Amino acid sequence: MLKQITQSKKLNDVCYDIRGPVLEKANALESEGHKILKLNIGNPAPFGFEASDEIISNVRNHLAEAQGYIDSQGLLEARQAIMEECLAQGISDVNVDDIFVGNGVSELISMSMQALLNDGDEVLIPSPDYPLWTASVTLSGGKPIHYRCDEQADWYPSISDIKAKINDKTRAIIIINPNNPTGAVYDKQILIELIEVARANNLIIFSDEIYGKITFDNTPFIPVAALSEDVFTVSFSGLSKTYKLAGFRCGWMVMSGPKQLAINYIEGLNILSNMRLCSNVLAQFAVEPALRNDSLSQQLTLPNGRLESQRNITWNALNSIPGISCVKPGGAFYLFPRLDPKFYNIDNDEDLILDVLSSAKILLVQGSAFNIPDNHHFRIVFLPSADQLSDALVKIGGVLEKYYSL
Ligand code: PLP
Repeated sequence: MLKQITQSKKLNDVCYDIRGPVLEKANALESEGHKILKLNIGNPAPFGFEASDEIISNVRNHLAEAQGYIDSQGLLEARQAIMEECLAQGISDVNVDDIFVGNGVSELISMSMQALLNDGDEVLIPSPDYPLWTASVTLSGGKPIHYRCDEQADWYPSISDIKAKINDKTRAIIIINPNNPTGAVYDKQILIELIEVARANNLIIFSDEIYGKITFDNTPFIPVAALSEDVFTVSFSGLSKTYKLAGFRCGWMVMSGPKQLAINYIEGLNILSNMRLCSNVLAQFAVEPALRNDSLSQQLTLPNGRLESQRNITWNALNSIPGISCVKPGGAFYLFPRLDPKFYNIDNDEDLILDVLSSAKILLVQGSAFNIPDNHHFRIVFLPSADQLSDALVKIGGVLEKYYSL
């Protein structure tokens, strides 16, 4: 008899719904010939945000040099540029050996958790989160413990909730700043409070700063690693968002703080890094020209520039839909609106998103995919043109009318 081939039990509790069943339905509709507006993932290129010619031609010029494996931690020129940027941002005592380049921040998130966690170790993760963090902790045998980010306080982390959730199994705290999905950008005060909690409880800080250069309204971005020298911190960034090169799959993580306390952990990272030999070499030739030209990172966030005006249009349109409220994002390119449960009857937010998909041919992501304990949020990406976004919002508003409870 033929036997079914089953997946590993390690995947039992692993959930990454940004690319889950709703996307499968969208793919099915596309194969039937429908055109779907994809507001579900932060992928700048399809919406006309393309990398600069300077970066592309540098990569093209190095094609022949990218044929062989290189140092598993990454191309030296790339790591030098990353190191210089860290020093310029005020992160002291970083050298090229403290940097790992990977196939996107995604690979490094998974590596950083695999190298750290024993079964049952706990990791504090924001709720809502970018769900890869929760999935990676779970897959590594760890236990994700979600701390509340408070919508009433511009989605800032609740320090009291974090403190209440720490115990002797807690190993680390994850920060996502600027945040996906909420767009919150943390100020110095909250970052210092987070550092104090980490310091007092011997926690490692893992700070996902992939949107660090995408802030609006002159909101400053402060890398958490620049604010302490005595807390071991791993900071993540990459080419996917600011440099519009998501398809290149290139990101990096930087270790700072008391590295002498983390020698054994860093050895673990090296084992995992060596096991995959090295990350895509060609993409690493994009790092130096990207980081050494400041103007490239500013293009996305110029005041009244394309992204900022798309944010404003989408935010205004969302807030004018009855029963919706939305905190204005200070960074990244997502909005995370709330559907007032007194106004809307929604039992299952995934069903709502499936309805928007079938009725309006617009792909959103349900809030519960971001590990929040309610079903009255969704995430929308504001990368498309202002016209596309305005049209989409009218259609979304139309579908929502079906759910009015009044
Ligand atoms: N971290 C956050 C917060 C993200 O939003 C994303 C992608 O959307 C990633 C990491 C993944 O980045 P990469 O393309 O470098 O794997």
